[in-house]
Amino acid sequence: MPLRVLVLGAGFGGLELTTILSEELGDDVEVTLIDKGEGFTFGFAKLDVLFGHKTADAVRLPYAEISKPGVRFVRETITAIDPAARRVTTDGGGSYDGDVLVVALGADYDFDHTPGLAEHGNEFYSVAGAARLAELLPSFTAGHAVVGVCAAPFKCPPAPSEAALLLHEHLLARGVRDACEISIVIPFGAPVPPSPETSRALVAAFAERDIGFVARRRVASLDGARSAVVLDDGSELPYDLFLGVPKHRAPDVVIASGMTVDGYVPVDSATLATSYPGVYAVGDVATVGVPKAGVFAEGAGRVVARQLIAQARGGEPPAPYDGLGSCYIEFGGEGVARVDVDFLSGPSPTGTFQPPSEALTIEKQHFGTSRAARWFGR
Ligand SMILES: Cc1cc2nc3c(=O)[nH]c(=O)nc-3n(C[C@H](O)[C@H](O)[C@H](O)COP(=O)(O)OP(=O)(O)OC[C@H]3O[C@@H](n4cnc5c(N)ncnc54)[C@H](O)[C@@H]3O)c2cc1C
Repeated sequence: MPLRVLVLGAGFGGLELTTILSEELGDDVEVTLIDKGEGFTFGFAKLDVLFGHKTADAVRLPYAEISKPGVRFVRETITAIDPAARRVTTDGGGSYDGDVLVVALGADYDFDHTPGLAEHGNEFYSVAGAARLAELLPSFTAGHAVVGVCAAPFKCPPAPSEAALLLHEHLLARGVRDACEISIVIPFGAPVPPSPETSRALVAAFAERDIGFVARRRVASLDGARSAVVLDDGSELPYDLFLGVPKHRAPDVVIASGMTVDGYVPVDSATLATSYPGVYAVGDVATVGVPKAGVFAEGAGRVVARQLIAQARGGEPPAPYDGLGSCYIEFGGEGVARVDVDFLSGPSPTGTFQPPSEALTIEKQHFGTSRAARWFGR
């Protein structure tokens, strides 16, 4: 009997896991991959949408293109998860079960957590939010733009810094930078806490570009009547354009399943196993001790795939999840930099920095195209 694997969510984690299982086990596995979306979008592509370089349609990789031995893609919304029975219910009216269940549903946004955000601000962390901001940006010709984080943890910790640097670039290219002010508000003491070298380079880039950097603060609310961003210590920044990072949380259906503790699914960081037999959680939905980023979701998906292959073939279990990942950082005109971070091997996370270069700009492009090829056969 083929191993029946139910993969919930076709993001970084679910796609990598599914691809490896199909490549290695072929028809000896029955993967049912469920996602409510029309297609996958890389997180970093939201910055392309935000600054009008690409449209939302252009950056979406349609799930209809997935064609892999042993894999069935189902486009439905998961409405209930029973981890004890390894069964899910969907809005299609049916239910699915498996020998193994992998929860890879990512993190959702809690807009209500930040009063005024939905009515008086904008976010760039969803494709729709980035597209809305792309429509507003051309009419922003003067005033104060604030890039602000509403709560930690949030996906891709360097992304707000990238947004501020690219906004500078965008306003400069339009000839309106001198009439605009840019500030960035983040809840950490440094832009990329595990890597002081990366943080120093980003803080220097902010200073060179006259971008105001507000550390150790989060955005508590937006006061639309007074056009003020209110921070968690009660201080305020006037704003004309707000580019927000909303508070994150696990999707409602995961919280309702009873699998979460403090908002996310706890797992064994070596194996990604949950406390339910045969149930794993990978990526942003899980608490692993690594940041919420695609590279870490992908690495976790890989470890679960190797365990399932060993289970199906009777081989040795794989090495534990290593918590290593490399994140690319857009510096604007200077190109793309990279930080290589190690979250699990030592007593505290560490990171090394590679400054912006043409080679890293090309490497980042390859990162995207290689995934599109492996996951979607492009
Ligand atoms: C602006 C920005 C820039 C970023 N840049 C980078 C970067 O450079 N490098 C990097 O590694 N990461 C980056 N990220 C982070 C990265 O996008 C996420 O961390 C990554 O996508 C998480 O992968 P995942 O598999 O856990 O979840 P996701 O990729 O979020 O996938 C979850 C999937 O579950 C589906 N889903 C959710 N609920 C349901 C339901 N009820 N029913 C059915 N389907 C459901 C969703 O449709 C989605 O497809 C960035 C993020 C942002 C916002």
